[in-house]
Parts: sequence; structure tokens; C-alpha cells
Amino acid sequence: MAVRVVKVKRHEKLGWAERLYLPAIVKGLATTSGHFFRNLKGFITGRRTAFVVQYPEERVDYPDAFRGMPVLVQLPDGMPRCVACGLCEFACPTDCISIVPGELPDRGIERYPEAFDIDISRCMFCGLCEEACPEEAIVMSREVELASFDRESMIFHKEQLLVPEAYLKRRLEFLRAEYEREDAPPVRREPQQPDAEQA
Ligand code: SF4
Ligand code: SF4
Repeated sequence: MAVRVVKVKRHEKLGWAERLYLPAIVKGLATTSGHFFRNLKGFITGRRTAFVVQYPEERVDYPDAFRGMPVLVQLPDGMPRCVACGLCEFACPTDCISIVPGELPDRGIERYPEAFDIDISRCMFCGLCEEACPEEAIVMSREVELASFDRESMIFHKEQLLVPEAYLKRRLEFLRAEYEREDAPPVRREPQQPDAEQA
């Protein structure tokens, strides 16, 4: 089949002012300086005129839809909610999840993850693992401060990934509302309730 090539007309000729580049540079500097001095004035007077967060002393309360690093939901007895079905591993587009399933016959749990690793250096926080999970066992947290000097330390093991369910309440409730999961298991509450803050 013959391919028809469409040539898109572009504005190729620059005017003399555009060829100078100087007006555009001055305009950019004026905008940047304007923001800088407005923020400086707000900082000195204590009346902030723009949205400025004094990080790291101040933190933004991310919306519930925010996707940080994926974590594992930890039940009050310390066990992961994960049943090592492998669906998240299969759904992950960057192949950064690695699960070794195990059995716990004496606890009435057929399968659990003996090992559960996520290579965070490859994770793109897409949330597909969370979507694929039938157990609400892996969810996106708000953790984004993940800088490291080497790749080895970016491989998070099960113990590092486990976050108590109560700390993930907001995300779990958001997901249930999103997927309208009426039959979702209730969030178990621990004796000492932490704040509404999430991990
Ligand atoms: S968020 Fe995406 S890339 Fe990261 S582990 Fe989950 S599925 Fe993989
Ligand atoms: S999909 Fe959920 S239950 Fe299955 S292995 Fe992943 S985290 Fe565990």
C-alpha cells in the first residue's frame, strides 16, 4: 500500500527580533526575577504570596491518588497480606518484582511470600502491581525520598517493604472507592491508632 507523506507547514523564517534571541532571554529573566523577588518578599514579611514549601521542614500532604513507592500491607500479626500469587510480578512492566512463595501449613495460610523483593531503581511507580493484586496486599505509598549511592541498596526486601495496614488506610480507602469494591475486607485497626498519616 502506497504511503502518503503529509508535509506539515512550519513557520521557518524567524523575524529579526527572534534571530537576536536577546528579547526572549530578557523576557525569561524578567519572569524568573519577578517570581524570585515576590517569594523573597513573602518569606521576609511572613506573608507568602506563592505556593512555597520550606522542604524538608515542611511537607506537602499528597493527595490520596498520589503514587509513591509500592509497599506491602502488613497485618496486625506482623504477616504480609500477600498470598504470593505472583500476579503483581506478572503485571509489572519493568520486571522489578521478585517473589519466592512459601507455605505455612501450621498457621492456616497456604501461601505467603518467603521472599518479596522490589528493585526500586527500576520501578516507575506505575501502580500496575497494585491494580493487579486481588488481595489489596501491595499498594502505592507516599514514599518518594529514595536516593541512594548504589543500585544494590535500591533492592528493597520484604522486611523493608512491610508497612502496617493502619498507616495505609487512606490509600486503601481511596482504592476501594476507585474500584467500587464493596466486598473489600475492612481495614483492621491496631490497638494504638497512628495519625491519619501514611508511610
Ligand atoms: S509500580 Fe509499576 S514498575 Fe513499580 S513495581 Fe509496581 S508494576 Fe512494577
Ligand atoms: S498480586 Fe498481591 S497477593 Fe499476589 S503476589 Fe502480588 S502482592 Fe502478593
